[in-house]
Amino acid sequence: MNEIGLSEEEIFSLLGNAKKKDFRYQRVLSSMCTYPHEIAVKAHMQFIESNMGDFGLFRGTHDMEKEIILMLGGIYGCNSAEGYLTTGGTESNIQAVRAMRNFSRDNRLRDNGSCDSPKARQNIVVPASAHFSFDKVSDILGIEVRKANLDHEMKVSVKAMESLIDEHTVGLVAIAGTTEFGQVDPIEVISDLAVSKDLPLHIDAAFGGFVIPFLPGEHRFDFSLPGVTSIATDPHKMGLGTIPSGVLLFRDFGYIDNLRVHAPYLTVDTQYTLTGTRSGAAVAATYAVMKLLGKEGYTKIVSRCMNLTRYLVKSAKDIGIRPVIDPVMNVVALDVPHPAALRTRLSREYGWHVSITQDQKALRLVIMPHLNIEIIDMFIGDLGKALDDLDKSQEGKG
Ligand code: PLP
Repeated sequence: MNEIGLSEEEIFSLLGNAKKKDFRYQRVLSSMCTYPHEIAVKAHMQFIESNMGDFGLFRGTHDMEKEIILMLGGIYGCNSAEGYLTTGGTESNIQAVRAMRNFSRDNRLRDNGSCDSPKARQNIVVPASAHFSFDKVSDILGIEVRKANLDHEMKVSVKAMESLIDEHTVGLVAIAGTTEFGQVDPIEVISDLAVSKDLPLHIDAAFGGFVIPFLPGEHRFDFSLPGVTSIATDPHKMGLGTIPSGVLLFRDFGYIDNLRVHAPYLTVDTQYTLTGTRSGAAVAATYAVMKLLGKEGYTKIVSRCMNLTRYLVKSAKDIGIRPVIDPVMNVVALDVPHPAALRTRLSREYGWHVSITQDQKALRLVIMPHLNIEIIDMFIGDLGKALDDLDKSQEGKG
């Protein structure tokens, strides 16, 4: 640390240098984040000091948080949903599984009068397409995460899920908008499975939660299905809020209460959250952008992203590349030769940021609101050139 403080000018020069090294989103097709909406940035700044960890001091911000839960509960089929703003999908998933684990522990305690650990490790059953945050869940909570195979459309096989359930299973997870394919699992059927096995069902809609409700087709994924007990959705992805903002919703207080801890020295005496201090700025940003856009605004944004996605897929087909599945939302996996080498070439030679699927078989692209037709045309042009480069280098090797 410097002995004496620097001048503001010096600081801003340092900041400017750091900023120059950051990539602008315009050439990023790998991220599920984007520029926050202008109103979100303004609201964020206005509430920059607000701490939701001690919300008794910040009642106005807390009221906005309650209204976000009400608005989202409303579009997810449950006006009485309970929840709070997290730092994003990872925290929401950790907390949802922690609630399942505690729910099962409390049930054992009630049924057996003892909460001795069962001999076998407890487990949850998730789709093989689950985000890597569930590997953190496993590590943190000491729970086994059983991964069920996908079918040819990249949806989880419900049969495979059922076959992995045993007496140590504490809950199920399904995904509404998978990270790699943007696919929606057959959640109606999984909900029935959860009900029949008397297990809680968490829906990871970190990406899809601000997309699916605004698509014309109907993908049922929410509390209107009787088995769904919790939902994770991220304003800092397609909600156009500021980072960090996720939302974790529970069907009712009974589930969130599994997360209660005593908070001895705050203005409120209980806390349900994972982090203590929490950003009230992200609450204000989410509230502002949701109020400004409304259903109509989000429908326009989603519709624009879907049009761009279809345009990208058509342009890719024109140069001989097909998607692994027809896009359900604005995430596309393209079936390309040598995806890893192609990604490196697109980055080094052409300055694009793309990713590949975990099986390394496809190029993964997310068509976020910062993209437009001109950018997609440029990208497809460079993709064609990068494929030719690779062909030539493969021929050279041959
Ligand atoms: N769940 C899904 C489906 C995701 O796609 C992601 C991130 O891309 C996450 C969870 C984790 O979200 P975060 O990075 O905000 O913690």
